[in-house]
Amino acid sequence: MSVQAFCRRLPKAELHAHLHGSISTNTMQKLINDVSHTVDKSERDVWSTVINKEGKRTLHECFAVFKMIHELVTSKEALSMVTGDVIREFADDGVCYLELRTTPRPLKGISKRGYVDTVVAVIQEASNHLELPVKLLLSIDRRQSLEEALDTVEMTAEYQQKGDGVVVGIDLSGDPTKGDATTFLPALRKAREAGLKVTLHVAEVPNVAETLSLLEFGPDRVGHGTCLHPAQGGSDELVKCFESKKIPLEVCLTSNVKCRTVQSYDVHHFRDWYERGHPMALCTDDKGVFSTSLSEEYCVAHSKLNMSQVELWKLSLSTVDYTFVTDDLKRQLRHKWQDCKQNYFQQ
Ligand SMILES: [Zn+2]
Repeated sequence: MSVQAFCRRLPKAELHAHLHGSISTNTMQKLINDVSHTVDKSERDVWSTVINKEGKRTLHECFAVFKMIHELVTSKEALSMVTGDVIREFADDGVCYLELRTTPRPLKGISKRGYVDTVVAVIQEASNHLELPVKLLLSIDRRQSLEEALDTVEMTAEYQQKGDGVVVGIDLSGDPTKGDATTFLPALRKAREAGLKVTLHVAEVPNVAETLSLLEFGPDRVGHGTCLHPAQGGSDELVKCFESKKIPLEVCLTSNVKCRTVQSYDVHHFRDWYERGHPMALCTDDKGVFSTSLSEEYCVAHSKLNMSQVELWKLSLSTVDYTFVTDDLKRQLRHKWQDCKQNYFQQ
Protein backbone atom coordinates (compact mmCIF):
# COMPACT_ATOMS: atom_id res chain seq x y z
CA MET A 1 0.00 0.00 0.00
CA SER A 2 1.39 3.46 -0.88
CA VAL A 3 1.97 5.93 1.95
CA GLN A 4 -0.83 8.11 0.53
CA ALA A 5 -3.27 5.19 0.61
CA PHE A 6 -2.07 4.19 4.08
CA CYS A 7 -2.59 7.71 5.48
CA ARG A 8 -5.97 8.00 3.80
CA ARG A 9 -7.16 4.68 5.26
CA LEU A 10 -5.63 5.33 8.66
CA PRO A 11 -8.41 6.26 11.12
CA LYS A 12 -7.66 9.80 12.30
CA ALA A 13 -8.87 12.25 14.92
CA GLU A 14 -8.77 15.96 14.06
CA LEU A 15 -8.40 18.12 17.16
CA HIS A 16 -7.41 21.53 15.77
CA ALA A 17 -9.56 22.76 12.89
CA HIS A 18 -10.89 26.32 12.61
CA LEU A 19 -14.23 26.25 10.82
CA HIS A 20 -13.61 29.20 8.49
CA GLY A 21 -10.02 28.22 7.69
CA SER A 22 -11.17 24.67 6.87
CA ILE A 23 -13.43 25.79 4.00
CA SER A 24 -12.23 24.09 0.80
CA THR A 25 -11.65 25.68 -2.60
CA ASN A 26 -14.89 24.08 -3.89
CA THR A 27 -16.92 25.62 -1.09
CA MET A 28 -15.15 28.98 -1.50
CA GLN A 29 -16.21 28.92 -5.16
CA LYS A 30 -19.81 28.27 -4.09
CA LEU A 31 -19.61 31.28 -1.74
CA ILE A 32 -18.29 33.43 -4.60
CA ASN A 33 -21.06 32.22 -6.94
CA ASP A 34 -23.65 33.08 -4.29
CA VAL A 35 -22.67 36.78 -4.38
CA SER A 36 -22.82 37.07 -8.20
CA HIS A 37 -25.67 39.60 -7.94
CA THR A 38 -24.00 41.84 -5.37
CA VAL A 39 -20.25 41.74 -6.09
CA ASP A 40 -18.64 42.91 -9.37
CA LYS A 41 -17.44 40.22 -11.75
CA SER A 42 -13.91 41.69 -11.71
CA GLU A 43 -13.67 41.27 -7.93
CA ARG A 44 -15.11 37.75 -8.11
CA ASP A 45 -12.55 36.87 -10.81
CA VAL A 46 -9.69 38.07 -8.59
CA TRP A 47 -10.98 35.88 -5.73
CA SER A 48 -11.42 32.86 -8.04
CA THR A 49 -7.87 33.21 -9.37
CA VAL A 50 -6.41 33.26 -5.85
CA ILE A 51 -8.45 30.35 -4.52
CA ASN A 52 -7.63 28.18 -7.54
CA LYS A 53 -3.90 28.55 -6.87
CA GLU A 54 -4.55 26.23 -3.89
CA GLY A 55 -1.16 24.90 -2.63
CA LYS A 56 0.67 27.58 -4.64
CA ARG A 57 -0.91 30.48 -2.72
CA THR A 58 1.67 32.80 -1.17
CA LEU A 59 1.38 33.64 2.52
CA HIS A 60 -0.05 37.01 1.54
CA GLU A 61 -2.66 35.25 -0.63
CA CYS A 62 -3.52 32.86 2.24
CA PHE A 63 -4.30 35.87 4.42
CA ALA A 64 -6.35 37.35 1.57
CA VAL A 65 -8.34 34.08 1.45
CA PHE A 66 -9.08 34.31 5.20
CA LYS A 67 -10.32 37.86 4.65
CA MET A 68 -12.45 36.80 1.67
CA ILE A 69 -14.06 33.98 3.65
CA HIS A 70 -15.00 36.36 6.46
CA GLU A 71 -16.50 38.74 3.89
CA LEU A 72 -18.55 35.96 2.30
CA VAL A 73 -19.84 34.00 5.29
CA THR A 74 -22.32 36.65 6.39
CA SER A 75 -25.62 34.77 6.51
CA LYS A 76 -27.09 31.84 8.35
CA GLU A 77 -27.46 29.98 5.02
CA ALA A 78 -23.79 30.46 4.13
CA LEU A 79 -22.72 29.36 7.62
CA SER A 80 -24.87 26.21 7.38
CA MET A 81 -23.53 25.40 3.93
CA VAL A 82 -19.84 25.78 4.85
CA THR A 83 -20.22 23.83 8.11
CA GLY A 84 -21.90 20.92 6.30
CA ASP A 85 -19.23 20.88 3.56
CA VAL A 86 -16.35 20.99 6.06
CA ILE A 87 -17.75 18.05 8.06
CA ARG A 88 -18.32 15.97 4.90
CA GLU A 89 -14.80 16.64 3.64
CA PHE A 90 -13.22 15.55 6.93
CA ALA A 91 -15.36 12.39 6.84
CA ASP A 92 -14.28 11.71 3.22
CA ASP A 93 -10.66 12.03 4.35
CA GLY A 94 -10.99 9.15 6.81
CA VAL A 95 -11.40 11.34 9.89
CA CYS A 96 -13.23 9.32 12.56
CA TYR A 97 -13.48 12.04 15.21
CA LEU A 98 -13.64 15.78 14.57
CA GLU A 99 -13.39 18.82 16.82
CA LEU A 100 -14.21 22.07 15.07
CA ARG A 101 -13.61 25.47 16.62
CA THR A 102 -15.11 28.82 15.71
CA THR A 103 -15.45 32.32 17.09
CA PRO A 104 -19.17 33.11 17.53
CA ARG A 105 -20.08 36.30 15.64
CA PRO A 106 -23.35 37.98 14.75
CA LEU A 107 -24.38 37.55 11.10
CA LYS A 108 -27.22 39.07 9.07
CA GLY A 109 -30.29 38.67 11.25
CA ILE A 110 -28.69 36.35 13.81
CA SER A 111 -26.91 36.95 17.11
CA LYS A 112 -23.78 35.22 18.38
CA ARG A 113 -26.04 32.61 19.98
CA GLY A 114 -27.91 32.24 16.68
CA TYR A 115 -24.52 31.62 15.07
CA VAL A 116 -23.74 28.81 17.54
CA ASP A 117 -27.27 27.37 17.16
CA THR A 118 -26.72 27.19 13.39
CA VAL A 119 -23.39 25.35 13.64
CA VAL A 120 -24.74 22.97 16.31
CA ALA A 121 -27.82 22.19 14.16
CA VAL A 122 -25.63 21.25 11.18
CA ILE A 123 -23.43 19.06 13.40
CA GLN A 124 -26.51 17.29 14.76
CA GLU A 125 -27.91 16.82 11.28
CA ALA A 126 -24.60 15.37 10.07
CA SER A 127 -24.59 12.90 12.96
CA ASN A 128 -27.78 11.35 11.53
CA HIS A 129 -26.04 10.11 8.40
CA LEU A 130 -22.30 10.13 9.06
CA GLU A 131 -20.42 7.83 11.40
CA LEU A 132 -18.36 10.73 12.63
CA PRO A 133 -18.66 12.24 16.10
CA VAL A 134 -18.23 16.02 15.77
CA LYS A 135 -17.66 18.30 18.74
CA LEU A 136 -17.45 22.07 18.88
CA LEU A 137 -15.17 24.47 20.74
CA LEU A 138 -16.05 28.16 20.93
CA SER A 139 -13.07 30.43 20.39
CA ILE A 140 -12.03 33.56 22.20
CA ASP A 141 -10.14 35.85 19.82
CA ARG A 142 -7.07 37.55 21.32
CA ARG A 143 -8.29 40.90 19.97
CA GLN A 144 -11.48 40.68 22.03
CA SER A 145 -12.02 42.24 25.45
CA LEU A 146 -12.18 40.26 28.68
CA GLU A 147 -15.89 41.05 28.77
CA GLU A 148 -16.44 39.40 25.37
CA ALA A 149 -14.35 36.42 26.46
CA LEU A 150 -16.45 36.03 29.62
CA ASP A 151 -19.58 36.10 27.45
CA THR A 152 -18.15 33.34 25.23
CA VAL A 153 -17.39 31.23 28.32
CA GLU A 154 -20.89 31.82 29.69
CA MET A 155 -22.41 30.86 26.35
CA THR A 156 -20.24 27.73 26.09
CA ALA A 157 -21.32 26.66 29.58
CA GLU A 158 -24.99 27.21 28.64
CA TYR A 159 -24.64 25.02 25.55
CA GLN A 160 -22.79 22.37 27.50
CA GLN A 161 -25.56 22.27 30.08
CA LYS A 162 -28.18 21.75 27.36
CA GLY A 163 -26.82 18.24 27.37
CA ASP A 164 -26.71 17.51 23.62
CA GLY A 165 -22.97 16.96 24.03
CA VAL A 166 -21.90 18.98 20.96
CA VAL A 167 -20.24 22.01 22.58
CA VAL A 168 -17.42 20.81 24.80
CA GLY A 169 -14.97 23.61 25.42
CA ILE A 170 -13.11 26.82 24.81
CA ASP A 171 -10.23 27.76 22.51
CA LEU A 172 -8.07 30.86 22.67
CA SER A 173 -6.71 31.91 19.28
CA GLY A 174 -6.21 34.84 16.90
CA ASP A 175 -3.27 36.95 15.74
CA PRO A 176 -0.46 36.03 18.19
CA THR A 177 1.19 39.43 17.76
CA LYS A 178 -1.94 41.22 19.01
CA GLY A 179 -3.14 41.65 22.59
CA ASP A 180 -2.00 39.95 25.77
CA ALA A 181 -3.47 36.48 26.28
CA THR A 182 -2.99 36.66 30.07
CA THR A 183 -5.83 39.22 30.08
CA PHE A 184 -8.16 36.26 29.52
CA LEU A 185 -7.01 34.16 32.49
CA PRO A 186 -10.08 35.12 34.59
CA ALA A 187 -12.33 33.87 31.73
CA LEU A 188 -10.28 30.69 31.33
CA ARG A 189 -10.55 30.00 35.08
CA LYS A 190 -14.31 30.43 34.83
CA ALA A 191 -14.37 27.96 31.95
CA ARG A 192 -12.55 25.42 34.04
CA GLU A 193 -14.86 26.00 37.01
CA ALA A 194 -17.80 25.34 34.68
CA GLY A 195 -16.27 21.99 33.73
CA LEU A 196 -15.36 23.04 30.19
CA LYS A 197 -12.29 21.76 28.39
CA VAL A 198 -9.74 24.41 27.45
CA THR A 199 -7.19 24.53 24.64
CA LEU A 200 -4.95 27.52 23.99
CA HIS A 201 -2.84 28.64 21.05
CA VAL A 202 0.53 29.23 22.72
CA ALA A 203 4.01 30.37 21.71
CA GLU A 204 3.25 30.87 18.01
CA VAL A 205 5.70 33.77 18.30
CA PRO A 206 8.33 34.26 21.04
CA ASN A 207 6.71 35.54 24.24
CA VAL A 208 8.19 33.83 27.30
CA ALA A 209 6.20 35.62 30.03
CA GLU A 210 2.82 35.14 28.36
CA THR A 211 3.52 31.51 27.45
CA LEU A 212 4.64 30.66 30.99
CA SER A 213 1.46 32.15 32.49
CA LEU A 214 -0.70 30.18 30.01
CA LEU A 215 1.13 26.90 30.65
CA GLU A 216 0.98 27.41 34.42
CA PHE A 217 -2.79 27.78 34.09
CA GLY A 218 -2.67 24.15 32.92
CA PRO A 219 -4.84 23.93 29.77
CA ASP A 220 -6.14 20.53 28.68
CA ARG A 221 -4.25 20.91 25.37
CA VAL A 222 -2.25 23.56 23.54
CA GLY A 223 -1.91 24.43 19.86
CA HIS A 224 1.39 25.03 18.02
CA GLY A 225 3.87 25.57 20.91
CA THR A 226 6.38 26.70 18.31
CA CYS A 227 8.55 29.00 20.43
CA LEU A 228 9.05 27.03 23.64
CA HIS A 229 12.68 26.01 23.18
CA PRO A 230 15.43 28.63 23.83
CA ALA A 231 16.64 28.24 20.20
CA GLN A 232 13.18 29.39 19.00
CA GLY A 233 12.95 32.34 21.37
CA GLY A 234 11.56 30.39 24.34
CA SER A 235 13.40 29.40 27.51
CA ASP A 236 14.55 26.34 29.48
CA GLU A 237 11.88 27.14 32.04
CA LEU A 238 9.16 26.93 29.37
CA VAL A 239 10.46 23.60 28.10
CA LYS A 240 10.64 22.25 31.66
CA CYS A 241 7.14 23.48 32.51
CA PHE A 242 5.60 22.06 29.32
CA GLU A 243 7.39 18.75 29.69
CA SER A 244 6.55 18.28 33.37
CA LYS A 245 2.85 19.07 32.83
CA LYS A 246 2.71 16.76 29.77
CA ILE A 247 0.11 18.99 28.14
CA PRO A 248 -0.93 17.39 24.82
CA LEU A 249 0.33 19.40 21.84
CA GLU A 250 -1.75 19.98 18.69
CA VAL A 251 0.84 19.99 15.90
CA CYS A 252 0.03 21.73 12.60
CA LEU A 253 2.99 20.99 10.30
CA THR A 254 1.86 22.56 7.01
CA SER A 255 0.33 25.58 8.70
CA ASN A 256 3.53 26.30 10.66
CA VAL A 257 5.75 26.08 7.58
CA LYS A 258 3.36 28.07 5.34
CA CYS A 259 2.97 30.78 8.00
CA ARG A 260 6.78 30.75 8.37
CA THR A 261 6.66 30.42 12.15
CA VAL A 262 8.84 27.35 11.44
CA GLN A 263 11.47 27.75 8.70
CA SER A 264 11.26 24.19 7.32
CA TYR A 265 10.05 20.71 8.19
CA ASP A 266 13.64 19.62 9.07
CA VAL A 267 13.71 22.05 11.99
CA HIS A 268 10.11 21.54 13.12
CA HIS A 269 9.74 21.06 16.90
CA PHE A 270 7.61 17.92 16.36
CA ARG A 271 10.62 15.60 16.18
CA ASP A 272 12.17 16.88 19.43
CA TRP A 273 8.92 16.52 21.40
CA TYR A 274 8.23 13.15 19.78
CA GLU A 275 11.61 11.87 20.95
CA ARG A 276 10.85 13.09 24.47
CA GLY A 277 7.66 11.00 24.38
CA HIS A 278 5.46 14.08 24.72
CA PRO A 279 1.72 13.59 23.96
CA MET A 280 0.95 15.01 20.51
CA ALA A 281 -1.74 15.06 17.82
CA LEU A 282 -1.25 15.87 14.14
CA CYS A 283 -3.85 18.44 13.04
CA THR A 284 -4.64 20.62 10.02
CA ASP A 285 -5.39 24.07 11.59
CA ASP A 286 -6.85 25.58 8.38
CA LYS A 287 -7.06 22.85 5.75
CA GLY A 288 -8.83 25.01 3.16
CA VAL A 289 -6.63 28.06 3.36
CA PHE A 290 -3.37 26.07 3.49
CA SER A 291 -4.58 23.41 1.02
CA THR A 292 -3.98 20.35 3.12
CA SER A 293 -5.93 17.49 4.70
CA LEU A 294 -5.36 15.40 7.79
CA SER A 295 -4.19 12.50 5.59
CA GLU A 296 -1.73 14.89 3.96
CA GLU A 297 -0.37 15.93 7.40
CA TYR A 298 0.33 12.25 8.18
CA CYS A 299 2.04 11.90 4.76
CA VAL A 300 4.18 14.94 5.56
CA ALA A 301 5.15 13.39 8.92
CA HIS A 302 6.24 10.28 6.99
CA SER A 303 8.11 12.01 4.16
CA LYS A 304 9.62 15.00 5.98
CA LEU A 305 9.97 13.75 9.55
CA ASN A 306 10.82 10.09 8.85
CA MET A 307 7.86 8.68 10.76
CA SER A 308 7.30 5.02 9.87
CA GLN A 309 3.81 3.67 9.17
CA VAL A 310 3.84 1.86 12.52
CA GLU A 311 4.72 5.12 14.28
CA LEU A 312 1.94 6.95 12.43
CA TRP A 313 -0.53 4.29 13.45
CA LYS A 314 0.46 4.59 17.12
CA LEU A 315 0.40 8.38 16.94
CA SER A 316 -3.09 8.37 15.45
CA LEU A 317 -4.42 5.92 18.06
CA SER A 318 -2.88 7.91 20.94
CA THR A 319 -4.68 11.03 19.70
CA VAL A 320 -7.94 9.49 20.93
CA ASP A 321 -6.66 9.98 24.51
CA TYR A 322 -6.60 13.77 24.02
CA THR A 323 -10.11 14.18 22.60
CA PHE A 324 -12.55 16.23 24.68
CA VAL A 325 -15.09 13.43 25.10
CA THR A 326 -16.33 10.98 27.73
CA ASP A 327 -14.31 7.89 28.59
CA ASP A 328 -17.10 5.85 27.04
CA LEU A 329 -16.77 7.55 23.65
CA LYS A 330 -12.98 7.22 23.85
CA ARG A 331 -13.43 3.47 24.33
CA GLN A 332 -15.74 3.32 21.30
CA LEU A 333 -13.21 5.25 19.22
CA ARG A 334 -10.37 2.92 20.23
CA HIS A 335 -12.52 -0.01 19.10
CA LYS A 336 -13.03 1.68 15.76
CA TRP A 337 -9.27 2.11 15.38
CA GLN A 338 -8.72 -1.57 16.20
CA ASP A 339 -11.42 -2.63 13.70
CA CYS A 340 -9.73 -0.60 10.98
CA LYS A 341 -6.40 -2.16 11.89
CA GLN A 342 -7.84 -5.64 11.41
CA ASN A 343 -9.63 -4.76 8.20
CA TYR A 344 -6.92 -2.81 6.44
CA PHE A 345 -3.53 -3.31 7.96
CA GLN A 346 -3.13 -6.93 8.99
CA GLN A 347 -3.78 -8.72 5.70
ZN1 LIG B 1 -5.14 27.42 15.03
